[in-house]
Amino acid sequence: MTTHNEFSRCVAQYDPHALPVSAAQAITRQWATPVTAVERVALRDALDRVLAVDIVSPIDVPSHVNSAMDGYAFNGVALRSGAQSVELTVVGKALAGHPFDGHVGAAQCVRVMTGACVPEGCDTVVPQELVERNADSASIMFAADAVEAGANRRLAGEDLARGHVALHAGRVIRASDLGLLASLGIGEINVRRRLRVAFFSTGDELRSVGEPLDPGAVYDSNRYTLFAMLRRLNVEALDLGVIRDEPAALEAALRSAAESADVVLTSGGVSVGEADFTRQLLQTFGDVAFWSLAMRPGRPLAFGRVWSGEHPGLGRPALFFGLPGNPVAVMVTFYQIVREVLLLMSGVASQPLPLIHAASLRPIRKRAGRTEFQRGIACQAANGQWQVTPTGSQSSGVLSSMSEANCFIVLGHEEGDIGEGERVSIMLFHGLI
Ligand code: AMP
Ligand code: MG
Repeated sequence: MTTHNEFSRCVAQYDPHALPVSAAQAITRQWATPVTAVERVALRDALDRVLAVDIVSPIDVPSHVNSAMDGYAFNGVALRSGAQSVELTVVGKALAGHPFDGHVGAAQCVRVMTGACVPEGCDTVVPQELVERNADSASIMFAADAVEAGANRRLAGEDLARGHVALHAGRVIRASDLGLLASLGIGEINVRRRLRVAFFSTGDELRSVGEPLDPGAVYDSNRYTLFAMLRRLNVEALDLGVIRDEPAALEAALRSAAESADVVLTSGGVSVGEADFTRQLLQTFGDVAFWSLAMRPGRPLAFGRVWSGEHPGLGRPALFFGLPGNPVAVMVTFYQIVREVLLLMSGVASQPLPLIHAASLRPIRKRAGRTEFQRGIACQAANGQWQVTPTGSQSSGVLSSMSEANCFIVLGHEEGDIGEGERVSIMLFHGLI
């Protein structure tokens, strides 16, 4: 078990008030211990689950040499006679699921359909459109250079060889994998249990959907955004509602969240005005690694661990991310910091999100010394090059900028102002959000 000190020490070489994003990603990843419990599920329930163990193929797929074409199967030796055309006697027929049982001699062939077993004595299939059939249908003729020996057959084990790893542990099961497992005759697989993530919002100003909005109040949108982002990752999301800005309520919520979840996400209560209070509270029954990132939006972001007991080390621990309250900052910190940790804890092999280059169609103001994730609208020009325009408002409270955008414009820690036409990196929302 890691101690309180070990937890806080991981940031010792950095300024804990302005940790670079790359350092925060490295530190949080370090604490991402995968869940170990395994569940056995039927194939259809395995979609989007994380494979717990390698799948070794119990059979060859295909299990027998079969034809890739509708045509005629024969022994390729017939092509080597030196004659310009080849004539073969048709001695039978093989369909998918209905093999031809006899032996096929040197000057003979068998009519085959796609997927039919290639009969004994044959190793080559000539497609039917390259063949002339004699009037009595008893023999065929085709040019000797129409096919090469060995052509148009699928070898046994060509798709999946028996005894080889067909799918590796840590893989998120997708549509092709379900089909692949079925092709191996596998009807159930072992997957990791889903990660449990509890989340709640904090703030006396927050109202839930359905409640009246009194002056100064705002509807709680973060719980819906978080619910959706968690759903996309196929984790078990536990919505603990809105917690008022009261130490006792917050402590009770955090401790009970630690009791039932692997990870606790909160939003709000970590910005400058409220941070000290939350930090002090957390230190009584948790560990705090960092509080503030050199990142925009998302400067206030707390990371640590909470325990279900009364002191650090007592009860059950859960990783804790105190996300900012501002709705855009919630999404940015989730995708840039939290997502990877949740995937790793779910048992998924790490997958950094792809960045692509785009020309910025507007100048962008950027201060060196922090990483910025601006919202952008990207499209591909006629020549295939990506171009991007920042959305109008980049305020971290303007959630409509996330709905309007289709990418993050990722401006690196060291980067300064960007001129019109200059190259920037973008991260597309497609497949992510
Ligand atoms: P805080 O980090 O608590 O200081 O909140 C920063 C800003 O985000 C404030 O304007 C809050 O009203 C707003 N905010 C906090 N939580 C939420 C929420 N769950 N939904 C919508 N806005 C929020
Ligand atoms: Mg607040």
